[in-house]
Amino acid sequence: MPVVQTSVPSEGAVQPTSTLPAQDPSLSSNSFSSKGLDASLLTITKNPSPPEPNFDNLIFGHKFTPHMLTVKWTKSKGWSAPEIRPHEDLRLSPASTVLHYGSALFEGMKAYRTHSNPEEIRLFRPDKNMERMNRSAQRAALPTFDGQEFIKCLRELIKLDRDHVPFQEGHSLYIRPTLIGTQDTLGMGAPQEALLFCICSPVGPYYPTGFKPVSLLAMSNVVRAWPGGTGCYKLAANYTGAVVPARQAQEQGYSQVLWLFGQDHQLTEVGAMNLFCVFRKQVEGEEGETYEVATASLDDGTILPGVTRDSILSLLRSHASGQNVLAGLPDPSKVEINERKIVMSEIVEAVQQGRLVEVFGCGTAAIVCSVDRIGYEGVDLSVPVQQDGFGDFSRTMLEQISGRQVGKISHPEWSVIC
Ligand SMILES: *Cc1c(COP(=O)(O)O)cnc(C)c1O
Repeated sequence: MPVVQTSVPSEGAVQPTSTLPAQDPSLSSNSFSSKGLDASLLTITKNPSPPEPNFDNLIFGHKFTPHMLTVKWTKSKGWSAPEIRPHEDLRLSPASTVLHYGSALFEGMKAYRTHSNPEEIRLFRPDKNMERMNRSAQRAALPTFDGQEFIKCLRELIKLDRDHVPFQEGHSLYIRPTLIGTQDTLGMGAPQEALLFCICSPVGPYYPTGFKPVSLLAMSNVVRAWPGGTGCYKLAANYTGAVVPARQAQEQGYSQVLWLFGQDHQLTEVGAMNLFCVFRKQVEGEEGETYEVATASLDDGTILPGVTRDSILSLLRSHASGQNVLAGLPDPSKVEINERKIVMSEIVEAVQQGRLVEVFGCGTAAIVCSVDRIGYEGVDLSVPVQQDGFGDFSRTMLEQISGRQVGKISHPEWSVIC
């Protein structure tokens, strides 16, 4: 049953945003003049025996919706017609590039039911995920594609599997677009064949037993990413090496790894989330306190440019400028926002002087996740949290972002109806 849409097929990748390191022109050898991804060619084969929606015991990524989206690519023909078909195993040659050289990248997005109208389903800034996915593809020598066309196909997938989007507050449909190299030869190089696909999984809240702040183990003997590496792309390979350190942190009684980098122990990310620190500053000659909200900058390619990070920075900046003042935060004139290098010695000093106000991680899965303890060089640094487990910044950011995701707070550019 083909879906006929009035779309103009377009070619080429979404442009990188200006906040990221400039693209190396030598990486763009995989943009071809062959056929672009075209949503108007989408075909749908329905699952003959779709499982009933079941939202009991949702463990992250364990249950899947009845359908998936697949789009094949070859270097000579370009993107073939997108297909929605039953969620099923893939058939791959054992020589496939992805199985030998890790040619794989992914995205993490969510669909939410509108707070006031559960029949309506929303996506949060899907254009940002498509931009990032194309940057990842370029870095991995995999083909780029028109993100808007892919989102059109994704919307059809979500519509078809709409009964599997959970209703309860804090629940959502996790969406996992993935791109892999499928060429069936062992030579190293840009794969001449690839598969773009998307599977979806109903998920419950990140904290099923209610919110609890997390503890971090600051690890300096392992490195997640480094300047000039692939940390700023969502390549599957970046996550392979993160599993053992995460297990070690857990064995030592911490919930996540705080990834440090360099001799000066720069704070980069936490687990698979971006990191924010809030410091209290006493400005000489001025009355009262000011606050600095800091997060690592994207300059050297070590940090994954999170959509949640970008949203938080944008909300905080519009607060600080007085453009959109948020209740729950200190007065705009007292808030300063910086993307900069943060080092552990600063954190230790701020804790000693009582100037560390908050530390929190952020990402699509948890949205915001506050930190109450950091283990560093054998000492536990305690980070303040209020009775509900949050601080003013983390609580306000969680409310502001989750409010936009479910349409409680109107923000049409970010929260788009499916
Ligand atoms: C996905 C991811 C994030 C968060 O990105 P969002 O777009 O906010 O979900 C942060 N750090 C790493 C390493 C990630 O993989």
